Amino acid sequence: ALPQAPKRIKALDQDVVNKIAAGEIIVAPVHALKELIENAVDAGSTSLEIVVKDGGLKLLQITDNGHGINRDDMAILCERFTTSKLKTFEDLTTIGTYGFRGEALASISHIAHLTITTKTADSSCAWRAHYADGKLTPAKPGQNADPKPIAGRGGTQITVEDLFYNVPSRKRAFRSPSEEYAKILDVVGRYAVHCTGVAFSCKKHADSATSISIPVNATTVDSIRHIYGSAVANELLQFAVSDQKWGFKASGWASNANYHVKKTTILLFINHRSVESSAVKKAIEQLYSAFLPKGGHPFVYLSLDIDPQRVDVNIHPTKREVNFLNEDEIIESICTAVHEQLTQVDTSRTFTTQS
Ligand code: ADP
Ligand code: MG
Repeated sequence: ALPQAPKRIKALDQDVVNKIAAGEIIVAPVHALKELIENAVDAGSTSLEIVVKDGGLKLLQITDNGHGINRDDMAILCERFTTSKLKTFEDLTTIGTYGFRGEALASISHIAHLTITTKTADSSCAWRAHYADGKLTPAKPGQNADPKPIAGRGGTQITVEDLFYNVPSRKRAFRSPSEEYAKILDVVGRYAVHCTGVAFSCKKHADSATSISIPVNATTVDSIRHIYGSAVANELLQFAVSDQKWGFKASGWASNANYHVKKTTILLFINHRSVESSAVKKAIEQLYSAFLPKGGHPFVYLSLDIDPQRVDVNIHPTKREVNFLNEDEIIESICTAVHEQLTQVDTSRTFTTQS
C-alpha cells in the first residue's frame, strides 16, 4: 500500500505551550512552594507563614512581610519572563541566583488558581488580584479583572489553589497528600535552617498546631535542633573555609564522630538556593567513612557562596543538580576543613581526659 500522506504541521496554541512549560517546571507542589519561598526571601521578608491543604494540591498559601509588589506591576506580574531581578543577559553572570527567570508565578498561574494580595510601604492599602494563564482574571465571571483595594499588612500573600486542576494526568500521579506534605516540610526545614533572621512557620490548613515553627531570632543550631532533633544538634561542629583562587566561601555545621544515622542528610545551599550535588554528597560520605562505623552516615549543613561568574546559572529550573567551575578543588577544600574539625575534636577530647 502507498504510504499515507503526512499530516500537516501546525503551531501549538500559546496556551498549550505555556501549560507544557509550566508542567515541566512544577512537577509537584513542593516545586511551586520552593519558588514562592525564594521569592519571599528575595523580597527581604523576616517572616514566612505557610499553610498547606492536601499536600499542597488543594491549597498552598505563603504570607510574607517583605517589600511587596507595586500595584502597577500587578498586571504583568504573572506573564512569562517578567522579573524585577534581571534586566540584561549580562546580569545573569552577576546575579548569582538560581530561579531568576521570572517564570515561577507565570507557571503557577497556568496550572492553578492563583490569588495575590500585596502591600508596599508607600501604598495606603493592600491590593488583591486573581490570575489565570499569565493574566489578571476576574474573581467572578462578569466582574472586571483589575486589582481590588483591600485592608492588609505590608508584604505579600500568595494563594495557590487546585494545583494541576487542568492537568488531569499529573493530578492522578499523586499517590498520597502526606507524601507531598513530607516533601514540603523537608524544603521548608532546609530554608528555615539556612535563612537565619527569618521566622518560618508551616502547618496543615485545618490544624491549629504547626509542623514547623522557627522564631526570627533562632540560630542555625536552634533551627537544626527544632527540625532535625537534639541528637544531631548536640553533636555539631562548625566549619568555614574560603579560597579566592577558586572564588568561593563555604561555611556550615557538620556532625561529629559521635553521631551517625542510616542515611546521609546534606543541606546544601549554593548562593542561597537549596540544590543537590551528587559530587558533594559522595565526597562527604567518603570523608566520614574514616570516622563512622560501617553503615553510619553524617548530617551536614553547607552554605556555599560561589563567585556568580563561575556558576552555570543559565540552568533549567527542573535541574536540581548543579555544576560549578573547579568543582573538585572546591569540594576538596571543604572536605579538608570538615576533616580538620573532626580531628580537632579528637585532640580536645584526649586533652580533657588527661586533665
Ligand atoms: P523571579 O523571581 O525569577 O523574578 P517570579 O515569577 O518568581 O520570577 O516572580 C516575578 C516577580 O514578582 C519578581 O521578580 C518580584 O519582583 C515579584 N515577586 C514575586 N513574589 C514576590 C514576593 N513574595 N514579594 C515581593 N515581590 C515578589
Ligand atoms: Mg522567583
